[in-house]
Amino acid sequence: MSCPRIEVDLSKIRRNTETVVRRLGPRGIGVTGVTKAVCGHPAIAQAMLDGGALGLADARLSNAQRLRQAGITCLVTLIRTPMLSQVDEVVGFCEVSYNTEIAIIAALASAAIRKDKVHGIILMVEMGDGREGILPENVAEVAQEVMTMQGVALKGIGANFACLSGLAPTASQMAAFCGLANEIEGVCGPYLKIVSGGNSANLPWALGEHATGHVNDLRLGETILLGVEPVSGDQIDGMHTDAFTLVAEVIETEAKPPPSPIALIDPTRERLRIVTTSAASARMILAMGHQDTDIPGLSMPVGSTLIGATSDHIVIGTPRPLPKVGSEVRFQLNYNALMHAMAAPDIEVTLLGDQSMRPSRRAQGKVNHLALV
Ligand SMILES: *Cc1c(COP(=O)(O)O)cnc(C)c1O
Repeated sequence: MSCPRIEVDLSKIRRNTETVVRRLGPRGIGVTGVTKAVCGHPAIAQAMLDGGALGLADARLSNAQRLRQAGITCLVTLIRTPMLSQVDEVVGFCEVSYNTEIAIIAALASAAIRKDKVHGIILMVEMGDGREGILPENVAEVAQEVMTMQGVALKGIGANFACLSGLAPTASQMAAFCGLANEIEGVCGPYLKIVSGGNSANLPWALGEHATGHVNDLRLGETILLGVEPVSGDQIDGMHTDAFTLVAEVIETEAKPPPSPIALIDPTRERLRIVTTSAASARMILAMGHQDTDIPGLSMPVGSTLIGATSDHIVIGTPRPLPKVGSEVRFQLNYNALMHAMAAPDIEVTLLGDQSMRPSRRAQGKVNHLALV
């Protein structure tokens, strides 16, 4: 197998999806699988669908196109507001998109009419994350405007949390969002097919004590792919955190004196240049670097320390015995590292586990509440 590569255990992704689907189902919440961190990789998307995701969502049109070209026919939603310059393609590849700008909705409507289609619109509401969204007090008005347009159909509203701010949604923010769904239905009639409460950061809320109200959808990427709750980074009980493994090859090993203190030019690199490895420790160099992944997001093998990295090399302090040149080192990844590795042209994606058996169904039917460990 070639190096560097990222090994993807599809059965773990399927089982992670099954776990969230099973836990959210009794609360009336369906799962939309978010594929942006894996660049819309069709086999990974299919594993999400096999696990019970009702549809797929991606932030980039190119990824949506990749899903379609691989023959995936489910509902594909564009969760980043479309670019005005791409509306024709958006209408071609996605049934639904998230929107915040009336000018873009109008352009989507014209594009849909040209293609003899009706494009679904979900209005993204700004509930405090500070990224995209229509202010809550303006949503009802925009919704009514969308309803007067031909070529588009109002499909729902959505909120997003913890992306820019890094703050998990509070119960009162979620209650306000549900109240907004009621308000819009009061003004527009029962047209909100989708009330999408947020992303992986919403899982603790969705599985918590309080009522989840109108929310009937969550858009989940990180939780399904990495089995963690993104705000804390903690593993979610019963989920696999090792569906992805990054594998790099050793190209040099030797005992070297510790590097002399370096004058740091770039303070943001400080973390990567630390390094007072003891004189006794040995070093290895891997053929992988910043161009391939987000190095601080890799978990080092037990006993090893990151000495530093450049565009194409990672230098690791390692206990003896030294690994042989040509041997492989395996890493687990966080979201940033995963996202970069999946997009890196020199990293081969190796699929594993797609032939595996269905998991045990014993736990099914039982309402398993999320426990964060
Ligand atoms: C990335 C993204 C998601 C998925 O976020 P995860 O934390 O990976 O679950 C959901 N919605 C929007 C709008 C996004 O941009």
